[in-house]
Amino acid sequence: MNKENLGSIYDDYLIDTKFDNSKINTIYQTKINNKFNYRGITTKIKDDFGNVFYIQLLANVDGEVTTIKNLLKTLLWGNMIVATVSIFASYVISKKTLDSLYDSYNKQTEFVQNVAHELRTPLTIIQAKQQLLLEEPDSKILDKSEDINISIKETRRLTKMIKELMLLATSDMNEIKVEKEETDIDEMIREIIVPYAECAKLENKELVTELEYNKKINIDINKISQVIIILLDNAIKYTKPGDTITIKTTNRDNKCIIEVIDTGIGISKEGLKHVFERFYREDKARSRETGGTGLGLSIAYTLIKVHGGNIKIMQENPKGTRVIVKI
Ligand code: ADP
Repeated sequence: MNKENLGSIYDDYLIDTKFDNSKINTIYQTKINNKFNYRGITTKIKDDFGNVFYIQLLANVDGEVTTIKNLLKTLLWGNMIVATVSIFASYVISKKTLDSLYDSYNKQTEFVQNVAHELRTPLTIIQAKQQLLLEEPDSKILDKSEDINISIKETRRLTKMIKELMLLATSDMNEIKVEKEETDIDEMIREIIVPYAECAKLENKELVTELEYNKKINIDINKISQVIIILLDNAIKYTKPGDTITIKTTNRDNKCIIEVIDTGIGISKEGLKHVFERFYREDKARSRETGGTGLGLSIAYTLIKVHGGNIKIMQENPKGTRVIVKI
């Protein structure tokens, strides 16, 4: 009835399209010429004379169909990209997590092996020395004083190592309690160094102080004292007669800097990378001789970290070692 209004659409496409009156009053979708998408609804009406007419409304939905197709395509690609990225990301994340778990498991195993090894050595020595004593029950204590002394020294080393291991275990469980109080750090160091100055003098070494922090600082006295003792202990252990050990404090950018500098045997470049690791010793024999456990610097590191500070170690020019603590 309105073919004029349809213009070329009628002549080009609809002319060959068979009128379908099977679906009445329901919206349907159809393809015209196998190419164009239409949605339609057909209504049947009768006039007063009983003639039947059909009114068919057709709306072209090519735009919508194309949009939906594109949307589906985009969703499909999007999903594929998201899926690929998620698979890749989960692989990378789980690999990282597993790697670090594996790493800490390996470290733990290595640590237990080291502990076992370190504990076995003094125990073997103590056992051997005591067996020697049993073999000569008639000899005097004076004759065997060297064996007894070695046993006592090794027992002391064992006790020290166990105490240090307990402290490290507490730090591993994040259970170190820090009890801070306002402290005159220069005064605290002056008190700590008294026995070390005597010890240095006996070994013909010089202990010099340059204490210029001149302020109070909020620290856990026991823990920072322990760090200073570890550093002084090392400075005395790894220096020779004639060497100098200097302990310095300064106020830099409102931070307290404590430096222990010695002119001793120094540490190799490679060693500098490992000294804060548990049980690391440059020269195991020398460290054993001086009662070292290889745990001192890792404890110092832990105690400074719980204060929110940092500790660094470097070679000193022309020779020796410098440890810098910043709190
Ligand atoms: P140790 O009980 O063996 O001294 P530490 O953890 O305190 O253990 O030190 C680890 C290693 O670092 C030492 O065995 C030593 O080789 C090296 N080291 C530490 N301090 C010094 C120093 N002042 N001079 C030279 N070497 C040092």
